[in-house]
Amino acid sequence: MKILERVSPPGGIATKYLQETNDGFVVEATYIRRPEKHTLCVSTQVGCPIGCRFCASGRRSKGSLYQRSLTSAEMVEECCNIAQEMDFAAHCRPLTFAFMGEGEPFLNFDECLKAFYALAAMSWPVPMQLAVSTSGIRPDLIRRLGEITFSVRLKLHVSLHGPSDDIRFQIMPVTQPISEIVAAVRAYRERCGRPVVWNYVLCAGVNDRLEHAEQIVRLLGPGWHVKFTRLNPAVGSPFRPTPRERVEQFRRILEEGGLSAAYTETDESGIQAGCGQLSYHYARGGRHGDT
Ligand code: SF4
Repeated sequence: MKILERVSPPGGIATKYLQETNDGFVVEATYIRRPEKHTLCVSTQVGCPIGCRFCASGRRSKGSLYQRSLTSAEMVEECCNIAQEMDFAAHCRPLTFAFMGEGEPFLNFDECLKAFYALAAMSWPVPMQLAVSTSGIRPDLIRRLGEITFSVRLKLHVSLHGPSDDIRFQIMPVTQPISEIVAAVRAYRERCGRPVVWNYVLCAGVNDRLEHAEQIVRLLGPGWHVKFTRLNPAVGSPFRPTPRERVEQFRRILEEGGLSAAYTETDESGIQAGCGQLSYHYARGGRHGDT
């Protein structure tokens, strides 16, 4: 893997990296600098077979959803190439390698596990932890992950994006019944006790009605953490961001239902900050900002 390009808007907290595999595929990673932590969000596949309708990864390369999975060695190299550029001495804060860029890690499960072990075995100048996200496509592997131990902290993120199968299906055309995903995540947490985050992208008129927040409360029950964002529209996305005033109402219903709810502002600094968006422009022969 070699770094091809860096996109870093002045004053922003995120830098996007494009990296090229030895056989000529391009994937992206995002490095986010916050006062309390470094997060490096890396890709696990070239493109993504899940094809979420708000995400550029599913539409890259002129409709070809997916090219191939990355090997564990490529993922480790993806992390190390960027980590070499970080100024750990100036910013002695924890580092998270988040397997949450392009691709569905649970469709490349064994290679991701090997990469986790390899990264955990390396020595880092700051405390290191791991995060991995899934659309829920393999509930059986969510359960299996709960049975595996790691020497570093691992946080699991699960894409919720809708309180019912029909709403999720509008957004995520390839997924599993939400009841099976919730059951698997409950079993995961009971087994290993590691932290779980449910991610929810608010799309205007699709999954952002207040009754949807009430449905989430009934679906999950108290004690879970939901992290939601307003949609950061990708090129060609059929969805629009939720109005800002809706966000607080949505959050209040979740908290009144006993869930903890955190809202994260999307990056509107100019880089295409949703997963797969920079490499989507690259695959089309364009660059950042060619919208
Ligand atoms: S949001 Fe994630 S799972 Fe969905 S298409 Fe994009 S990369 Fe794949």
